[in-house]
Amino acid sequence: MTFNVRWKLMITYIIIILVILLAITIYLNRTLKSHYLDLTRDRLRHEANLARAYILNETIDLPFSHQIDTLANEIGEQLGLRVTIVDPQGIVRGDSELDGQALINTENHANRHEIMDAHQKEIGINTRYSYTLNTDMMYLAIPLVRQDKNIGTVRLALPLDEINQTLRRVRRMLAVAFIVGLILALFLSYVTARAVTRPFNDMSQIAERMARGDFSRKTIVRSGDEVGQLATTLNQMALQLDRTIREITTERDRLRGVLSGMREGVILTDKEGRIVLTNDALLNFFNVTSSIEGRTAIETIRDAKLHATIEKALKTKQEVIEQIELTVPKERTLYVHVFPLGVPAGCTGTVVVLYDVTQLKRLEKVRKDFVANVSHELNTPLAVIKGYTETLLDKALDDTETANKFLKIISKHVNRMSKLVADLLALSKFESDTYTPLFGSQDLQKIVASSTDTFKDALEKKNVTCTVDLPSDLPLVKGDDKGLEQVLLNLLDNAVKFTPAGGSITVRAHEQESAVKVYVSDTGIGIPMKDIPRIFERFYRVDKDRSRELGGTGLGLSIIKQIVRAHGGQVWVESQVGQGTTFSFTLPKA
Ligand code: ADP
Repeated sequence: MTFNVRWKLMITYIIIILVILLAITIYLNRTLKSHYLDLTRDRLRHEANLARAYILNETIDLPFSHQIDTLANEIGEQLGLRVTIVDPQGIVRGDSELDGQALINTENHANRHEIMDAHQKEIGINTRYSYTLNTDMMYLAIPLVRQDKNIGTVRLALPLDEINQTLRRVRRMLAVAFIVGLILALFLSYVTARAVTRPFNDMSQIAERMARGDFSRKTIVRSGDEVGQLATTLNQMALQLDRTIREITTERDRLRGVLSGMREGVILTDKEGRIVLTNDALLNFFNVTSSIEGRTAIETIRDAKLHATIEKALKTKQEVIEQIELTVPKERTLYVHVFPLGVPAGCTGTVVVLYDVTQLKRLEKVRKDFVANVSHELNTPLAVIKGYTETLLDKALDDTETANKFLKIISKHVNRMSKLVADLLALSKFESDTYTPLFGSQDLQKIVASSTDTFKDALEKKNVTCTVDLPSDLPLVKGDDKGLEQVLLNLLDNAVKFTPAGGSITVRAHEQESAVKVYVSDTGIGIPMKDIPRIFERFYRVDKDRSRELGGTGLGLSIIKQIVRAHGGQVWVESQVGQGTTFSFTLPKA
């Protein structure tokens, strides 16, 4: 069983008070009796002196006559005591309690202690049990001396049962006082212990709340003493702690905010390589959903290369850069930078930053492919031009017919190169970040009409019909007229190119909630299913030779995609080989 401080204090107080009360009781009990006896002795002495003076004042002579007993009776009555007058031989001559024969029969008192002491020491005192009165008695005797002649002894006797009664009464009072004192002590010790421990209880409760992170309550400072100072210090400490925790929380939230806002994956490890902190991007890279703190990269992320990179940085205490290829959850290329922490003093851990360079790598590949494609596209006409020019310079100039034929071929390839360069310039213009279409309100009716008009001759020549079916209330669209015309020209060019004689082309449009959707359909050769996903890539053509033959560069659809995107729209294609193709795109309403 454990006692709290209040109980301990109370028990201590009670023990102290009990001991004091007991000591007082025992002391009083002891001293009271002797005090009463002393008082009684003093009283007897005074009264004995009085009695002696009274007796000596009487003219009666000793040996005592019967008047002596009368005198003893008188004095005894006056004093309320037993008075005995004894002659020098010890014979009792007078006694306030005895008369007649009883007095005569009284045994000789010469050997009584008090009588002997009275003659030897001027006063004799004795306390003993009286069989005559059945009680303890105190006897006090003094000598009766007249003109230097011992004429006897006067003895006073007082029964002590009165003292015993008084002592019993006092003891009873002491017992009551003891119990009352004890109750009072209990109450006072409870009040005092409570007063002493209350501030500590308060502080203990506040400290418990603080431990739970609740700093809202303050300790009440009740005094200016040490306890009050302790309470003040506790309050200051709580304030400081609250402030510090708030600062730390703010810092932690900021750090979390920064980390979760980062697209780079971040890991913080300890010096054993165990993960201390990560961010969402990191979990996303490796498709980790559970908490991975406290374990190593190999245990949780299960990437051996990442683990080895962290280990290497911890071992060498130097920055390590690596590239990691991921296949799950999706193909990614990550650059891993591992920075050792606490170097050079001693490595305390690492910060790992993972950059997703998948897109960069893809763009790099696109760029390389693009350069290779452009070089290849330019190479063919240049080789042809070079070959025919050299042949012409060599000898064919003389042969006018051949020269004419050669020059036509050269011209055709120059035109092809020029178309290629024009398409490249257009692509570069529409792809560039600086291209922002002049968002005017454009009437699609007009743009479609002028675009189809461009192909009037070609359509006639190929025997292909073109139908424009636009609703008369078609709303205006927001866009750049040159750009929109380019989209329609490219789509119509393809439709004309890939639709055999007797076929037809239709341009339709309808209004949507916030856009206008335009369709260019043909009944041409169609696009095989497998080529559809790549059809908008630069230089991608289903049949390269055929496209070249028809004067295509493979850039038309890329240019369309860029322009429509820049307008905030989208492009789609639906096609069936041998049945025809429909290209569609949306433009925002003006
Ligand atoms: P090109 O200059 O070769 O026409 P595009 O980018 O405009 O380049 O078109 C890419 C390829 O898409 C074409 O080579 C062709 O194979 C296919 N294509 C485009 N439009 C059509 C169409 N209307 N019908 C069939 N195939 C088409």
